Amino acid sequence: LEIKNLTKIFTIGSIFSRTRIVAVDNVNFDINEAEIFTLAGESGCGKTTTAKIILGFEEPTSGEIIYKGRKIDRVHQNEKERRELLKEIQAVFQNPFSTFNPLRKVDRYFYETLFNLGIADTKKKAEEIIKEKLSAVGISFEEFSEKYPSEFSGGQLQRISIARALLTNPSLLVADEPVSMVDASLRMSIVNLFKDLKEQYGVSVLYITHDLTTAYYVSDRIAVMFRGNIVELGPAEKVLMEPKHPYTQLLRESVPEPDPKKKWDIRIKLSETEQAEYLRQGCKFAGRCPKAMDICRKEPPPYFEVDGVQVKCWLYR
Ligand code: SF4
Repeated sequence: LEIKNLTKIFTIGSIFSRTRIVAVDNVNFDINEAEIFTLAGESGCGKTTTAKIILGFEEPTSGEIIYKGRKIDRVHQNEKERRELLKEIQAVFQNPFSTFNPLRKVDRYFYETLFNLGIADTKKKAEEIIKEKLSAVGISFEEFSEKYPSEFSGGQLQRISIARALLTNPSLLVADEPVSMVDASLRMSIVNLFKDLKEQYGVSVLYITHDLTTAYYVSDRIAVMFRGNIVELGPAEKVLMEPKHPYTQLLRESVPEPDPKKKWDIRIKLSETEQAEYLRQGCKFAGRCPKAMDICRKEPPPYFEVDGVQVKCWLYR
């Protein structure tokens, strides 16, 4: 998947007072085959909007999405393309309980997907596929059949929603905060599942998260977003263990450590003065960057390549 110059601008307010919000600002990245690529950052940084554009839930203001070498337009695609891409790119959402209708048995969704997309034409064939995908996520067919969503725990249901996403043998899974509503003790098992799927099936994953711990554990590469921009992109080990951008450094410091004396509480929200600064030209982080220089307030920084990592910061000029 290649994302080129992707921008999404929302306009909010009434006809008397309108505000433009640049949710995604000229974002570029690509995801390779069998790669786990993470978009990380705090709420409102643009990572979920980027995922929604890739899934066709939002229309980009500008930019291109190229999938397997072909430009795709998920909002204006025809039925044939829609079905084709539905098989190729699947999604796993944050809350597994909102993925399924509480009044409908979960297995019905599986049969429906297989029959509607022409993947199976008999119940026997469908059952074979379902059993295989459930076993990939560690759920048995017996414990799954004829049950309503409320009969599963959050962790089980999230595994089931991943199994459902696998029914079409997708090449890419877009997983938007897939563990944030799962019990802390089960998070790593879900994250491990993505690693297994990558290794067993060659599936690529776009992992969207604000949780740097799971991001570090699961990702091959990571892009850190701030106010619509990717500010640092590179191998997960380098970005998270030797962060170069001052914002990544701040995020990294905010990860709680098992040392009670260690400071971890940081302020991510911008004050009004900082917001005003952000709306002006220059680096969007200048209002709170401890290393800001004159140039930072005048010109937006370009990307500099430092030790295999792209960093959007004048410090690396
Ligand atoms: Fe800080 Fe300047 Fe780098 Fe922005 S460009 S992060 S203000 S040093």
